[in-house]
Amino acid sequence: MSSSIIQRSRYTPRNAKGLEGIIELEMTVVSDYLFVGSGKYDYYLVKSLENIEDLVEKALKGVIPDLSNYFSPKVYLMNKYSDGKIVIPGSTIKGMVRSRLELSIPGSCYIVDRRSDSPPSQTYIRIFKPDRNRRSDEFDPREYPNICPVCNLLGNMGLGSRVSFSDFVMTSGKTTYVNVHGSEFEVVTRGSKFIGKVVYHSLTQEEIGMILYGFGFRKGTEGKVQLLGRFKFSDRRFGRVKFMLKDPSLLKYLEAFMNKNKGKLRDFNEEW
Ligand SMILES: [Zn+2]
Repeated sequence: MSSSIIQRSRYTPRNAKGLEGIIELEMTVVSDYLFVGSGKYDYYLVKSLENIEDLVEKALKGVIPDLSNYFSPKVYLMNKYSDGKIVIPGSTIKGMVRSRLELSIPGSCYIVDRRSDSPPSQTYIRIFKPDRNRRSDEFDPREYPNICPVCNLLGNMGLGSRVSFSDFVMTSGKTTYVNVHGSEFEVVTRGSKFIGKVVYHSLTQEEIGMILYGFGFRKGTEGKVQLLGRFKFSDRRFGRVKFMLKDPSLLKYLEAFMNKNKGKLRDFNEEW
């Protein structure tokens, strides 16, 4: 008889009181550019409008037939809050962490890899060497109550996440415009910094370590290069970031996770 109630693995019993806390992180852009779009676009003026009323009047009278050469082509914008602050959505950060964990940890179910509708790029395949056999294995938590370690931590259908990712808000740096294949993109430039946090509850020590592993930490408070945002697999100028851990005392959890999974974890060099 199969139960319709999804259960956590015995590894982290539901009723056991686990660890609660916050992981504070700083993210630095280490490639020329980073683009995480909002889906919104805009235009900007390429010629100065010294007398806008005069121009509008002329345009209305048909004296200037075309105003389009006063404006840029369509510019795709960085994701922003309504006050204009540039921000990487927490869901984007969570997706990055989740995909790294699914590809690294034996017995996980490859949700992120399977979810994408376009065929993976050659760069993606070269870096991550995804296991096609594992990918085709349809995972259904109702049939497999011993849920995969990543879903157990970050949630799945009908199973809440025990970890929440804040947006990462830009604290310093610059933006510029870059043309990629004929379209303009507002991007943030090398050295720009963002801060954000991860709030967790009811975790084991190893699970806190798992989150840190997904952010690219291996040893010490500076993580390895991870790829993020658009063009990360198609244009070397884009998408490399590094995370810094504010509180070095959390590294003991990373060590616990890596020791527990010694010899079983896969790792990737994302600096292609
Ligand atoms: Zn899973």
